Amino acid sequence: MRDLNELTRPNIVRLKPYSSARDEYKGKQATVFLDANENPYNAPFNRYPDPLQTELKERIAALKQVGTGHIFLGNGSDEAIDLVFRAFCEPGTDNVVAIDPTYGMYEVCAGINNVEYRKVRLDDNFQFDARHMLAVADRNTKVMFVCSPNNPTGNSLYRTEIEKLLSGFDGLVVVDEAYIDFSSEPSLTLQLERYPNLIVLQTFSKAWGCAAIRLGMAFASVPVISVFNKIKYPYNVNQLTQSEALNALSHPEQVSGWVDKLLLERARMILEFRSLSCCLKVYPTDANFFLARMTDATGIYNRLVDKGVIVRNRSHVTLCENCLRITVGTPEENNTLLEALRLEHK
Ligand SMILES: *Cc1c(COP(=O)(O)O)cnc(C)c1O
Repeated sequence: MRDLNELTRPNIVRLKPYSSARDEYKGKQATVFLDANENPYNAPFNRYPDPLQTELKERIAALKQVGTGHIFLGNGSDEAIDLVFRAFCEPGTDNVVAIDPTYGMYEVCAGINNVEYRKVRLDDNFQFDARHMLAVADRNTKVMFVCSPNNPTGNSLYRTEIEKLLSGFDGLVVVDEAYIDFSSEPSLTLQLERYPNLIVLQTFSKAWGCAAIRLGMAFASVPVISVFNKIKYPYNVNQLTQSEALNALSHPEQVSGWVDKLLLERARMILEFRSLSCCLKVYPTDANFFLARMTDATGIYNRLVDKGVIVRNRSHVTLCENCLRITVGTPEENNTLLEALRLEHK
């Protein structure tokens, strides 16, 4: 890996970060807080939250078996994706490389930050070859994005190819594991010591059932996390989110119960879809959704909308012609979808 200071934008290397009152005084023993121009009334909402979410990180560190210094928490994974561009990619000069198709936010963030986005098409099995990714990279390629299990295809990418990318690329590699809790593959968070250029993204939005609180996690080397902390908004994770996440973390058994149920429903839905006359193929999945090739995805999508059932039409996405992406819901929700589809002829 190249020196991190060489990968980081020069203005970010030079930047002197904003220092908040809560950065300067971190102790908890004090009883009188007259340092932050807060209102003394309306507890507990009158106080600024912990800018570095110490308690939350300790709980996540224990759960994920990584040190707290390897964790960044943000307003959804989307914040971490945006910070990757703002920290490492010089607008108008640098570029990133990503698999195609994949999660749309990488390309949107690249566009917002005026960073060239180079796509490398997956093969017919929705897998990638690390050599193809490395072949499109040049001196100005700072970051590569892969997503496993991938969205919208649902499959896990081959671990050997991801590791070839990590050892063969001298910039940063983001591995988005938003759906890892539904997968039989182990997380790459356990490989942080081996790969200093690895950034793993996870989220509370899927298996944890907390999309509304907006909490994303990035796991990376201590120096990379320090760069994120340097440029993030001082209080990027609000108190309500921190409290609710601590509450969710106190009930991990609830999450594994949801995952077990969803995996059973996923298996049932795939069998049911295979028996539908309007479904041509269901792709293998390691996520809480599956991609299905249909006879007429857009027509079916529109007729489902008329019945109040919304799925994701992916027909215009690379390699996903005539495909719908179906999120696994409750048994009742899934049955409503199946009943509507059984009325489709051909
Ligand atoms: C849903 C999803 C996320 C989650 O984003 P949040 O901002 O944390 O809600 C991240 N990556 C992928 C690939 C996703 O599908």
